[in-house]
Amino acid sequence: MNNFRIYGNDSSKELITNMISKGREPHSLIIHGEKGLGKKKLASWVAAALLCEEGGGVPCGKCKSCRMISEGAHPDVMSPKYGAKGNYMVDDIRPIVSDAVIAPTESRMKVYIIPDLDRSVVTSVQIQNILLKLIEEPPEHTAVILTASGRETFLPTILSRVISIGAVPVTDAESAEYLEIYEGADPVSTAEAVSAGRGNIGRCIEYLNGGLFKNGVAAARSLARAFISRNEYQMLLALEQAEGSRPLLRECLCLFSEIVRDSLRIKLEGESAVTAGCDEDSAKHLSASMTSERALSLYDTLCSYITGIDSNSNTALTINSLCAQLC
Ligand SMILES: [Zn+2]
Repeated sequence: MNNFRIYGNDSSKELITNMISKGREPHSLIIHGEKGLGKKKLASWVAAALLCEEGGGVPCGKCKSCRMISEGAHPDVMSPKYGAKGNYMVDDIRPIVSDAVIAPTESRMKVYIIPDLDRSVVTSVQIQNILLKLIEEPPEHTAVILTASGRETFLPTILSRVISIGAVPVTDAESAEYLEIYEGADPVSTAEAVSAGRGNIGRCIEYLNGGLFKNGVAAARSLARAFISRNEYQMLLALEQAEGSRPLLRECLCLFSEIVRDSLRIKLEGESAVTAGCDEDSAKHLSASMTSERALSLYDTLCSYITGIDSNSNTALTINSLCAQLC
């Protein structure tokens, strides 16, 4: 099994392959896209494409270099460790700049992968400023790959100097194939997980494993259905599943906002619109029962409540106030 099989994202892979096969290896890349879309996997694919001994710009998956990368054991492919709070410390990034000038030990290039830069909210700008010189004038044997959920994490000075790749969702069928082959999921669990996580394979896996995302999907679906039937009591019940748990309430509102976003998409593009949320039926119902203005205003309301949760608003008060708004 080739561990570098990447579903979807064909145009990004082609871009990298073309650059490498023409001898114009990218030295600085950013990969952006929401959590679960496989940014780290894509970064590892790029590293393997750069270092593969076959040299075709696509990881062969069999050579020593590819095997070491897939085992996370290649001495020339490095990532800084997350600090105690799950973010990066400035002092952990500085050594990368001094280390980058030293020649690789095993392969023809060294690759530094710095994933989830947006985790380090406080130090993200400092970190990019430290890396700026390396990104501006990278040694011939060095490549730096940064990832974050959105492009807005990156400084304009960084964005103007890097190859920028957006990780995109795959099809539901590709998600299902992945879950069956790589996670060994049975057809029933696969169908359930894909109906929730859709083309975001990371989310599908999270659903299989239970926990926050799975509970969030259940709450968001109940909320959407109660909203459609204008049942205030059911709405309150749906939201109360998350009382006392800020992460769950946030997840529920984010997922409900995605259903509303899907309903707008269906309104604009018709039934063939590509949806991404966890409840396609509810999105269709909402689309048929609300004007675009109303759906947009609902979307904005949900976003403002999510911002409120992020700034530590009380969950019980949030639930009561939101429920009143939704009615
Ligand atoms: Zn290889």
